[in-house]
Amino acid sequence: MNIDIQKIRNIGISAHIDSGKTTLTERMLFYCNKIHKIHEVKGKDGVGATMDSMELERERGITIASASTTLDWSDHAINVIDTPGHVDFTIEVERALRILDAAILVLCSVGGVQSQSITVDRQLRRYKVPSLAFINKCDRTGANPEKVNADLQDKLGRNSVLMQIPIGLEDKHIGVVDLVLMKALYFDGENGEDIRSEEIPPELVDKSNKLREKLIDAASLFSDELAEAYLDGNESIDQIYSAIRKGTISLDLTPVFIGSAYNNKGVQPLLDAVIKYLPQPNEVENYAVNLTTSEQTKLISDPTLPPIALAFKLEDGQYGQLTYIRIYQGTITKGDELYNIQAGKTFKVGRLIRMHADEMEDINSAKCGDIISLFGINCKSGDTFSKKGLNFSMTSMYVPKPVISIALNPKDKKSHDNLAKALSRFTREDPTFRSYTDHQSDELIISGMGELHLEVYIERIKREYNVNMETGTPQVSYRESITKAGKFNYIHKKQTGGAGQFGQIEGTIDPLREKDFEFVNKIKGGAIPTEFIPSCEKGFKLCMEKGHLIGAPIVGIRITIEDGNYHPVDSSSMAFQNAAIGAFNQVYLKSNPIILEPLMKVSVEGPSEFQGSIFSSINQRRGVIISTSDDNYFVRVDANVPLSEMFGYSTSLRSLTQGKAEFTMEFFQYGKAPESIAEKLIKEFNDSKK
Ligand code: GDP
Ligand code: MG
Repeated sequence: MNIDIQKIRNIGISAHIDSGKTTLTERMLFYCNKIHKIHEVKGKDGVGATMDSMELERERGITIASASTTLDWSDHAINVIDTPGHVDFTIEVERALRILDAAILVLCSVGGVQSQSITVDRQLRRYKVPSLAFINKCDRTGANPEKVNADLQDKLGRNSVLMQIPIGLEDKHIGVVDLVLMKALYFDGENGEDIRSEEIPPELVDKSNKLREKLIDAASLFSDELAEAYLDGNESIDQIYSAIRKGTISLDLTPVFIGSAYNNKGVQPLLDAVIKYLPQPNEVENYAVNLTTSEQTKLISDPTLPPIALAFKLEDGQYGQLTYIRIYQGTITKGDELYNIQAGKTFKVGRLIRMHADEMEDINSAKCGDIISLFGINCKSGDTFSKKGLNFSMTSMYVPKPVISIALNPKDKKSHDNLAKALSRFTREDPTFRSYTDHQSDELIISGMGELHLEVYIERIKREYNVNMETGTPQVSYRESITKAGKFNYIHKKQTGGAGQFGQIEGTIDPLREKDFEFVNKIKGGAIPTEFIPSCEKGFKLCMEKGHLIGAPIVGIRITIEDGNYHPVDSSSMAFQNAAIGAFNQVYLKSNPIILEPLMKVSVEGPSEFQGSIFSSINQRRGVIISTSDDNYFVRVDANVPLSEMFGYSTSLRSLTQGKAEFTMEFFQYGKAPESIAEKLIKEFNDSKK
């Protein structure tokens, strides 16, 4: 099936954990006839929700990996990218957000705007993703969708507008009033599949009228036509739809829908809204970098142009190696030759697949705007596919550096081999997950973005690859940097029979904030021959791998080479590389080196009575409180806390607050470790060398 761009929507579903994202997705799949039976999250039937395809997720009842699935809804294809919820997995959320055109923000009618809703909201903003809100769980005790709508305005600063009101709340929640059509909608049948449209119940007529007025006022800002028609009292339904659509796509308006996914209420109108209000792929601007000119180029959603596609997700699942791609330009057809720009390799498109929740459909071709997958392609996520000669790359995504690592010790040969397989796969799938062998201890180390991030991979390695292994204690990844500029002038000279070695380098070292490393060549008149310059850079780079304070990688340095000297016979690449190493060693310790530690953005939420305990738990951990909000019931504290202090925080927070508070944490930035900590780390490092 080769779908026209007007009929495609690419959406993500974003939410605070436990808001019901998986449950909602499951209902959507069901109504689109993709699955024939609804399975609950952690279902008693032991099957688990369809989108949580990994065993581990089923057990934990959370969704970790993103997968894309196509829903057929009223003659349209909705590609749903299941964005993971936990913030330890932000790289996946961000990667998914990049390829989405729009999102549904799911909120709990009781919890309202929670810590992760704020993170997700920030991400949606950063990537300029238009969104609808769905206030779920209206069947729960304490459900208050109007309060949640007010939260959207107050806490997230959104211009949100209720498109529906509930008919009954808590255990009396039976349907919704559609404020555009002015109809009551009920969801009959075993799974809410039969929609019954009736007159609005008399007790809700006044309220519906009032809120419809609000809705039209909000919509009128985006359409003069609607504003005028409304004044004359003859506004049409289509005028309202198109005004809301305009405001939504320009990110100025958030239409709000309500329901209860679990009780099958309100899901079909939400699907209708996705089609009505969210943008077609060609209504969103996408850019690629022209690698020849380094310029951003706007991509054109034209199926007749040469193809440009981004591989955003690799999945090594039950069907083999699948690569999910989003096509931005052109058409991709079975048998086509494509060029992988990052790998510099041409490959042939074998099978083209449209993924449905748990089955796949072979297709012949797909056009720009669509999201599909390729079978058996060797690539990394983030690679761009195009035609050879077209030097375009979808902007490289920012990949945060790992902040935590852990050693793995497989117990036998078989486990050792399987571990290698697992790591080769997971590091290809997830750029924030890395592995390497520590040459000093000869141990295998994995590193990632947080404790949970590594825990999940450890579990998967054990289960999916049958690895029998021991794991060390998690270690924080420190960095070193300098705080003072310095000058170097170093002569590397060796004369031990045979050919000698000679190289001289002179220049400066500066602290740099924005970048890890910069190399500037200011050599004039061939003081160092051009052919040896790359060796100088290489020498400096080698030094950056291990600092002198604690052996941590060095970041934030600019090296400028200004002068030097060479010998017509004795100079070589090796000589200049060694000269660079000597120069660096000469100047590094004189440049006031410091240790940097990862700081995490921590957000704690709990009942107000625990505010004091939450504060002191953060202060004890060298945290800096950034903001607090308290609505007399719930307090939320945002702080920056060093990662090294956060081990075991969940246990201690639980006991401090009788399990009533929760927290989320994500990497913020590297910051200078205080003197006392630095001294301790340096001592440990020196002791370990003895
Ligand atoms: P996710 O973490 O956002 O994917 O949330 P899940 O879909 O896994 O749901 C978390 C929990 O909330 C599960 O126990 C669901 O059964 C429950 N849940 C989901 N939707 C609703 C709802 O509309 N009403 C109620 N009462 N519970 C719900
Ligand atoms: Mg889930």
